[in-house]
Amino acid sequence: KELTSSQIRQMYLDFFKSKGHEVMPSASLIPHDDPTLLWINSGVATMKKFFDGSVVPKNPRITSSQKSIRTNDIENVGHTARHHTLFEMLGNFSVGDYFKEEAITWAWELLTSPKWFGMDPERLYVTVYPKDTEAKRIWHEEAGLALDHIVEVEDNFWDIGQGPSGPDSEIFYDRGQEFNNLADDDPENYPGGENERYLEIWNIVFSEFNHKPDDTYEPLPHKNIDTGMGLERVVSVFQHAKTNFETDLFLPLIKATEKKSGQHHYGDSTETDVSFKVIADHIRAVTFAIGDGALPSNEGRGYVIRRLIRRAVMHGRQLGIDHAFLYQLVPVVGKIMESYYPEVLEQADYIAKVVRMEEDRFNETLQDGLQLLNENIKKAKQDDAKQLTGKSVFKLYDTYGFPLELTKEIATDQGLEIDQTGFDLEMKQQKERARSARSNAKSMGVQKSLLVDIKTPSKYVGYEKLTVTAVLK
Ligand code: ATP
Ligand code: MG
Ligand code: MG
Ligand code: MG
Repeated sequence: KELTSSQIRQMYLDFFKSKGHEVMPSASLIPHDDPTLLWINSGVATMKKFFDGSVVPKNPRITSSQKSIRTNDIENVGHTARHHTLFEMLGNFSVGDYFKEEAITWAWELLTSPKWFGMDPERLYVTVYPKDTEAKRIWHEEAGLALDHIVEVEDNFWDIGQGPSGPDSEIFYDRGQEFNNLADDDPENYPGGENERYLEIWNIVFSEFNHKPDDTYEPLPHKNIDTGMGLERVVSVFQHAKTNFETDLFLPLIKATEKKSGQHHYGDSTETDVSFKVIADHIRAVTFAIGDGALPSNEGRGYVIRRLIRRAVMHGRQLGIDHAFLYQLVPVVGKIMESYYPEVLEQADYIAKVVRMEEDRFNETLQDGLQLLNENIKKAKQDDAKQLTGKSVFKLYDTYGFPLELTKEIATDQGLEIDQTGFDLEMKQQKERARSARSNAKSMGVQKSLLVDIKTPSKYVGYEKLTVTAVLK
């Protein structure tokens, strides 16, 4: 029988509870007392206080399912099978308690025991850091994983430049030959490489060194374990889904969007499928972010929300939806997530109101903005220009509410760049004009450090097939 996403989440937490872990509820997406992060982007981001020793946990073994937002993955959404803006990271943590041996053998037990996940060991591969012979030995001798399922990968070292760091092991699920997107002899054709056939489901970090300011590494007196498993990815494995979107976490949203569209159906074309996926993804992120107290605005977290809503609205146009509709998806998100996050459904009316206001505002200027953008693109092409001028991009941003990134995406799809320097100059001048003391510098700084905080930024996927442009036609 196929398990639901709620059952799978619960099974993970129950497993680690049975190994003496305390189950921690998901923390807010908005970091407390952490100026280095715009959003909570992983389970461990909420555990920093334990790992740096400033707070001692009651129980050094902790497990959680943590809602996380990663803005660096926004443009991957819908184009890869596995990336979301908001996702849940299941994790188990050892604060100076157990280490490699338990972390590995328990991971193996959870994944393969018929009592738990019951995955076929033949389908599982792990990567290890080449110098971490200990991890390799444990995977092979204690877990019993065949040597040809253990791949040495040089990047498997978790390090954000200072503080706790160490080798890690990533676990991949082989989705099978039919997902092969690379030739057999392609050098990227291995678990951990670019082949979509191998889905990264879990990352286990063995935090055992202190990376010092002078760039040396000293062993930590207390070694830690930090792991992260993407719930949506594991659910896709359980539910035999082609991508994360064909699971109970997303399908009700896709179905509801189909109803709004009337004319387009999921599965009709790759282009419109991307739009369905982006809408389902973005409304989840927006709903949770607003539920946790953020609001659309022009900077920092608020700008991320604004950008997501506007991007989703554009994709709605792509599906023939020309009126506010996203707000009606908010209770659908609430219902899907009700068992673990009942507060979302409770706040659904408020969240929907905020989304509706933002949608209405953008819809008012969208048509005119698209027309202007279309003219600018035409003109640039006629003039053989490589770029849209900073002035025109700024006008779209300032007067028509087009997030810079959105204009950039559309331009890229038309083979054009945007004049970033010109845009920045316009922005600066406007700020001076307004004599505003506030500047975006702070939020930009935070954005950058968010990227630094993410261990292995995904490769840029590109926009060979950008969909939002169809609305321009
Ligand atoms: P990928 O290489 O697929 O981008 P990652 O190596 O960046 O993933 P980690 O930082 O190791 O991811 O995060 C731990 C786990 O969280 C991953 O193994 C994956 O299951 C999940 N995960 C990471 N990013 C996302 C995302 N954007 N959407 C959904 N799940 C994610
Ligand atoms: Mg990883
Ligand atoms: Mg990775
Ligand atoms: Mg990534």
